[in-house]
Amino acid sequence: MTAPDFGPPTELPARTGTAIRMRPGDRIRITNTHGSQVVDTWAVSANDPSEVLSMEHTRRVTGHLHPVTGDHMLSNRRTPMLALVEDSFPGTHDTIVACCDPWLYAHLGCAPGHANCRDNFIAALAEQGLHADTAPNPLNLWMNVPVEGNSVTVTAPLSRPGDHVTFRALCDLFLVLSTCPMDVPPGSGAAPINGADCTPMPVHYAVAR
Ligand SMILES: [Zn+2]
Repeated sequence: MTAPDFGPPTELPARTGTAIRMRPGDRIRITNTHGSQVVDTWAVSANDPSEVLSMEHTRRVTGHLHPVTGDHMLSNRRTPMLALVEDSFPGTHDTIVACCDPWLYAHLGCAPGHANCRDNFIAALAEQGLHADTAPNPLNLWMNVPVEGNSVTVTAPLSRPGDHVTFRALCDLFLVLSTCPMDVPPGSGAAPINGADCTPMPVHYAVAR
């Protein structure tokens, strides 16, 4: 099998979202350029935006709390949507924590209007002419959420500059990415999910069609 021919990388700036059209067989490589950035990731059917990538349905069939290379990830209607075909990071990606949203930042004492992954998801789809009222539970790339027994901890990332994952689309979809804008220092109830300096950073992605 020949290596996929990725196009030039596109920067996704810190704190922003985008929706990328992918057809079956297309691949996308997402690179954690600076190593510290969590990327909230969703897939939405191009034919019906009410069909979305579902962590709950995926865990049921893969048997994995954290996705691993070779996993096929399902929609909320059990349609295979994405295959994880490459992952340079030996750690884990989170599937259980909700994305950040206006109410989280209000709870943390931020002024109204703080950028957030929920609004990034909705806005990215709106740019493609798709309407969403809310954001499904995302796949949180590189988000470090150790689970021990009945304890769930949200903490600083272990990923490294240049770590990357590659997904292959299994149906016609929009892949939605958000460079998580979390920048609230620990001590106010927040967790340093984007690194100890709490500074959101850009990432890069490239598509092979
Ligand atoms: Zn976020």
